[in-house]
Amino acid sequence: MRLEYRFPNIPELKKLSIVVENKGDIVRTVISGTNSLWIRFLIKFYFGFHNKIGTLDNLDGSNVYSMYLPPFPSLAHARMFEVFLSSVLFKRKIPMAVTIGITTRCQYHCVHCSAKGRSKSRPDLSFDVLRRTVQQCLDLGVTNITFTGGEPLLRDDLEQLISSVSPDQAISQVFTNALALTPKRAKSLKDAGVFGVQISLDSADPAEHDRLRGLDGAFRAVEEGVRNALNAGLLVGISTYATRQNALSHNLIPIADLCAQWGVHEISIFDAIKTGGLSDQEDVTLDQISRKVLHKDSILVNKKYQKIPRVITQSWTNSGSGFSRFIGCLAANRQFHITAQGDFTPCDFTPLSFGDVRTESVKSLWEKLISHPAYCQHQLSCRMQDPLFREQYIDKIPESSDLPYAISDL
Ligand code: SF4
Repeated sequence: MRLEYRFPNIPELKKLSIVVENKGDIVRTVISGTNSLWIRFLIKFYFGFHNKIGTLDNLDGSNVYSMYLPPFPSLAHARMFEVFLSSVLFKRKIPMAVTIGITTRCQYHCVHCSAKGRSKSRPDLSFDVLRRTVQQCLDLGVTNITFTGGEPLLRDDLEQLISSVSPDQAISQVFTNALALTPKRAKSLKDAGVFGVQISLDSADPAEHDRLRGLDGAFRAVEEGVRNALNAGLLVGISTYATRQNALSHNLIPIADLCAQWGVHEISIFDAIKTGGLSDQEDVTLDQISRKVLHKDSILVNKKYQKIPRVITQSWTNSGSGFSRFIGCLAANRQFHITAQGDFTPCDFTPLSFGDVRTESVKSLWEKLISHPAYCQHQLSCRMQDPLFREQYIDKIPESSDLPYAISDL
């Protein structure tokens, strides 16, 4: 497939054209309309990096490199690449991704749930507000829309929401516990145009996963959900989290072996964050040693399995090393979060609200976020793991408050 990328929203790059063409796993580019060596280097570096890491799959003629990135060449990826150039070359802050909670309901009561403590006093967003919010996110430049919960499959209108995201503008994915991911539901998500599903798995040991989820059969639901999603032709990711303890115990290795056996495309390892159900667990977050163990294990797994499953770790993206310096803390940088009750927050793990999408536009809330003293600077490490940030903002939230707490009230 061959597609010409143009950048109409970057006045300085009006003449730039990149012809992006994939032949098998390799993507080639032909650049014209710029004499800047730096711009040429950046473009070559970006596509060269992806050629080096290799594809996860091919979808409708485009190469898939990650479940968080539109496949390329594609119109959605051209939009994403415009935002990337805008942010790297001109330091403009345009979001690439949003996670949207669509319900607070869930069948489980997980120990580590990030939504624990969230307000139950307001209803979940209506379909009309959600659809309007999705459109406002797309208008702002977002190219990755992730539906979360609670458990998003508990909403019958999820497929309608997914259909409202044009694949030419953005990819959409769903984070799920897979309990309701039957063959019929997986097909219906595929028909609606979802890019992929991210299924949560806490341990490769069935009894341990069931214990952490608080329900016998939870592990079996993951196994069946993965199978149903793959059979429906969906991209499938497993999402899990690294605590200090489970990283030191090399928990990633058996999870990766299981995912390889199942045919999973990608494994996302999020850092355990002191928030929600883990708020008062002092030694849960990664320290230097456990971070190194996790990093080494992820390299080992990626070498062992070459193509899929590929492991990506949050602890690398906010480590401040190498290419990850372009990423860092995603909040107010590449993404934001909207809770199921309409609160606009920096990310799913930060219990601070900048306002309500029911009464304010996403654009105005984003501008409020990126101009706030806590978020106006690029930060390489995770703010929620930064003792200074926590002292200044999180520790000041009055006890027993409904979360997320309005930052303006601190
Ligand atoms: S604070 Fe930043 S790095 Fe930490 S979880 Fe949120 S977005 Fe990710």
